[in-house]
Amino acid sequence: MGERLDVESVEGAVAGREPLDIVRWAVSRSGEGLALACSFGAEDVVLVDMLARVTDTPRVFALDTGRLHEATYETMERVRERYGIAMEVYFPDREAVERLEREQGFFSFRQSLEARRACCQIRKVEPLRRALAGLDAWVTGLRREQSVTRAALAVVERDEAHGGILKLNPLADWSSDQVWEYIHRHGVPYNRLHDEGYPSIGCEPCTRAIRPGEHPRAGRWWWESPEHKECGLHVGPDGTVRVLGQARGSGTGAEAAHG
Ligand code: SF4
Repeated sequence: MGERLDVESVEGAVAGREPLDIVRWAVSRSGEGLALACSFGAEDVVLVDMLARVTDTPRVFALDTGRLHEATYETMERVRERYGIAMEVYFPDREAVERLEREQGFFSFRQSLEARRACCQIRKVEPLRRALAGLDAWVTGLRREQSVTRAALAVVERDEAHGGILKLNPLADWSSDQVWEYIHRHGVPYNRLHDEGYPSIGCEPCTRAIRPGEHPRAGRWWWESPEHKECGLHVGPDGTVRVLGQARGSGTGAEAAHG
């Protein structure tokens, strides 16, 4: 956003605005210093559509972990074609993945929480760090109601884990119904897995469909307890995840690109 803005002044600028207006305001302030982290889930395709409405040069980046669903790649391609956006794709470090798979095998993330976080660190967290380098601000599709780890989410946060850049969550207040109403009203391309029982979509081996009545995040790392269900993209500098009641702004690592 050009000069470094404090969170309070940005909050004042976007207070009471609808998500599209927040996106428009952010683009007008930061131009190419702002990018959307896109995992091609429902919230993210809504934000791609909004970005495309307010600028001819939207910046959208994605983390290709190497373990995504085929349906996610199909969605990426449909979004790319629909909006004509050159996606900024980040792969994990090749040597780190080679070492991980040689030493730990191909499903190390099932062995323990630490092993799972180590995989996310290589495939998501480190690439995200590269994606955010040089940005003034980033946009995510996080919503408050998604999980206990996001219940204290603010629309504007300072991302201390990534050099203190701003992190904007324009859909923080939105419900799932609002997201889907937008998708259908505007004919936004979306991941077909959402129609197959996947409200939340990440890497293929770490995501399953949920059963009726289950929490929307129940299909992510289903072998772990709810308070651990973040991949490290939205974990604070101290390594903790945001939990219900936690002071706002204190847990703002990152996530959304496959969070
Ligand atoms: Fe690895 Fe699973 Fe994390 Fe993807 S979600 S980076 S496969 S542990």
